Amino acid sequence: MNVISNHMPTAELQALDAAHHMHPFTDNAELAKTGARIITGADGVTLTDSEGHKILDAMSGLWCVNIGYGRKELADAAARQMMELPYYNTFFQTTHVPAIALSAKLAELAPRDLNHVFYAGSGSEANDTNIRLVRHYWAIKGQPEKNIIISRKNAYHGSTLGGGSLGGMSGMQTQGVPVIPGIHHIDQPDWWSEGGDMTPEAFGLERAKQLEAAILDLGVDRVAAFIAEPVQGAGGVIVPPSTYWPEIQRICDEHGILLIADEVICGFGRTGHWFGSEYYGIRPHIMTIAKGLSSGYAPIGGSIVCDEIAETVANGGDFNHGYTYSGHPVACAVALANLRILQEEKIIESVHDTIAPYLAQKWQALADHPLVGEAKIVGMMGSIAMTPHKESQAKFAADAGTVGMICRTRCFANGLVMRHVGDRMIIAPPLVISKAEIDTLIERATKALDETYELIKADGLYKVG
Ligand SMILES: *Cc1c(COP(=O)(O)O)cnc(C)c1O
Repeated sequence: MNVISNHMPTAELQALDAAHHMHPFTDNAELAKTGARIITGADGVTLTDSEGHKILDAMSGLWCVNIGYGRKELADAAARQMMELPYYNTFFQTTHVPAIALSAKLAELAPRDLNHVFYAGSGSEANDTNIRLVRHYWAIKGQPEKNIIISRKNAYHGSTLGGGSLGGMSGMQTQGVPVIPGIHHIDQPDWWSEGGDMTPEAFGLERAKQLEAAILDLGVDRVAAFIAEPVQGAGGVIVPPSTYWPEIQRICDEHGILLIADEVICGFGRTGHWFGSEYYGIRPHIMTIAKGLSSGYAPIGGSIVCDEIAETVANGGDFNHGYTYSGHPVACAVALANLRILQEEKIIESVHDTIAPYLAQKWQALADHPLVGEAKIVGMMGSIAMTPHKESQAKFAADAGTVGMICRTRCFANGLVMRHVGDRMIIAPPLVISKAEIDTLIERATKALDETYELIKADGLYKVG
């Protein structure tokens, strides 16, 4: 067998990667020309690549490494569990200690009566579970026709057929999804891009009321659930106006519609609370979890389900659903160690009281940059909208994402991972980032914005569309 090590020359690794590795969400032909960046190690908030560059990871990998890289406790927990019981399933009336312990812990951490966990290997799988779970729930209650799930345009709920059908990001919607019937999309609460002349408050209400209109239009007896991220993550860190969530909650309550909060990004401290639902004061019946649950150290996701749904489903005969790796013991052990660190080191309290306010102050100041329209932030997830004309909130003449991509490249060149969604730049740094590291993040982001500004002026891209 060939041994492929970190010590092979970068170009050789890149050639092998291009020859054999199909990357997700990537133009693979384009990547093959430039060569993938090869990450070889990481510690704290800092990545190292195969050329020895140090890069501040302001995205926590893919929004998941909440406790930062290099925590030996999680490696130890995985090694211990692998020696003791590397695998056993939770089908057919069996269980094991890691799944029991993690379920009890999650029931303790989750708000109210969200006391029951159904495990998956990822957030996408968990949302597939949710589709089946809510439809099964209403069928048990004698309402099999109550099976439509309302979601939102520009939502992200994963990439499986179920998750992709729930989601509403335009780039995905022409590639094999949506395929699941009975999913209805309403507009997103993105005031900056779609608010027109309305105030953010009026716009938030208008977008929330679309849910009510859809319920009445489709029929209360046809709508099973509404699913949404407290703050849309992959859609560009779209922070809803303050009026939005209270109105959504009222509508779900009034019409008896199940509320599914997709907490895959917002959960486990990202907003300065354990869950985004607590930040917004909403009361979901189901929360989707993944990512920060294990800080990305092991793949695991799940659905935290309220008493009433869990009891109804428990009394409804077999729920014919599950994954080989539902409640995988190693992933559960790693998640438990991660939750222990979040709790014992008071990381979420520190985010809430100190780190998030510090980041917010620095981040919001970026709105003074000539290229930046709005700068939004909730806890440790922020976005800036780039624009050629702040007053009119105009878009660039170039295709959406052209300027975003230039800025992202300038970020990398300056030792910073910041992602672009269209022409928005977004961050979601590890929750353990220090004030000094936040200063570095902002310095590098500012430099990248300056360079982008100069480049697009020189290239004739600084132009209103
Ligand atoms: C990432 C994400 C998912 C999908 O999770 P995977 O683990 O990638 O399958 C679902 N919902 C939201 C809100 C996400 O951000």
